[in-house]
Amino acid sequence: MKITKRILKFTAILIGFLLISIVIVLFVDKQNTTYLNVENIKYASNNTYLISNVNIIPMDKDTVLVDKMVFIKEGIIQHIADSIEVTDVEIIDAKNKYLSPGLIDMHVHVWDRYELGLYLSNGVTAVRNLWGMPMHLRLKKAINNEEIIGPILFTTGPKLTGSEFIGDDNLHLQSPAQAIEKVISYKNRGYDFIKTYYGLPEDIFNAIIKQAKISDIDIVAHPSQKVPYSYHFKPQIKSIEHAEEIIQQPLNYVLDTLKLTAIINDFEKSKHSSFSPTFTVYNNIYQMLIDDNILASEQLQFLNPLIKKVDSKAQFERWYSTKLRDSSIVNTIKTQHDFHLKIIKKLHKAGVTLICGTDAGIGVTIPGFSIHQELSFYKEAGLSNYETLKTATVNAAKTHAIMNNMGSIEVGKIANLLLTDNNPLLDLTELQNPYTVFVKGRKLERETLSNFKQQARKRNNLMASALRYVENLIIEK
Ligand SMILES: [Zn+2]
Repeated sequence: MKITKRILKFTAILIGFLLISIVIVLFVDKQNTTYLNVENIKYASNNTYLISNVNIIPMDKDTVLVDKMVFIKEGIIQHIADSIEVTDVEIIDAKNKYLSPGLIDMHVHVWDRYELGLYLSNGVTAVRNLWGMPMHLRLKKAINNEEIIGPILFTTGPKLTGSEFIGDDNLHLQSPAQAIEKVISYKNRGYDFIKTYYGLPEDIFNAIIKQAKISDIDIVAHPSQKVPYSYHFKPQIKSIEHAEEIIQQPLNYVLDTLKLTAIINDFEKSKHSSFSPTFTVYNNIYQMLIDDNILASEQLQFLNPLIKKVDSKAQFERWYSTKLRDSSIVNTIKTQHDFHLKIIKKLHKAGVTLICGTDAGIGVTIPGFSIHQELSFYKEAGLSNYETLKTATVNAAKTHAIMNNMGSIEVGKIANLLLTDNNPLLDLTELQNPYTVFVKGRKLERETLSNFKQQARKRNNLMASALRYVENLIIEK
């Protein structure tokens, strides 16, 4: 009896100690990112400005509006004209700089607050997170309430797959009834989209689509291998992910241009589905294969430490040992990447809406920085600078109704804007280092943006990240 009591007491103390440790670790992580708090950022308390002497790249059409004024009131674009008279408003003399819409990365995986600063410092003012967890709902709330500054965050719920698909990173649905229940629950809890994943069987997929329609929530699909590729061209599915999936499934790993034409034709008919190629994450396999020291590279200091320790390492080792067994893999991956560019060129020609997505936050794909790489691949594939920039602005915004209020410089749109020294339509690399970023009309200057980068370098939040991951496994499973 006495021993049982002692064991109980000891267990209670242990649990108490554990809970206190968890609270402390999460508190410290939050304290270390107070540099993102709106009240700690120079100028960020204001979201009403008159910008003068500015050249506008509106992106709703291929033009530059020369020497204009833009009035932003409480984070919304109110008026654009040659001359605007307003009183008691701070005026920013843009000195003939260029104003373009903030970039949108449509395929990311956010792991912590530091990444929000990395996105902003790279001109990314909205992101679509495709692996939703409870932490993302909290982040969304903190951003929407303007407690912290960050890109506008949209997130899917957890990845939905079938019962056979292994791994703790997705939700294994057992039946259509369970699928319906999850769609309703995700919508109610505030997830923006449903993410369907790799191993989803048809009966469950049908149930998801039916319920998503009733619940009025869009689906983002990582193609399922359990249904034909053409199954995904359904009106409720607004976005299809990953160029490599076209090669893996309908082309069955054969780089066949003729077969590809048939898929392109199917895509062309489905006007409601955008396509997100995520070239960067695939090309990074090639980068891992040709650089044995990639894990120690400067850029990887900007990755979340948990991802670096677990995912980047595992991916690198997997490809490294594949290369040792068969060195031809290097060429195979490169050839497939080049074929992806052909796919995009054809999809673009067919009029399919392309949206910029990087898959940043996993493997060795760095949040924020990657978007510039992704855009450069679209350009390499043959898109003009204007068409390339559309993928990360207007095209992204038109994909989902809830994103329609961004992506271009027009009256009534959210003032997510980039001010650059030169015209980005002449040189897209101009977007890599904006002079000023506006997010919901709040001004972030170069100094602030470079501080966001510095703060995220070599961050020490492995434990906090692991705890949030465990929380996800407990709550969402
Ligand atoms: Zn992804």
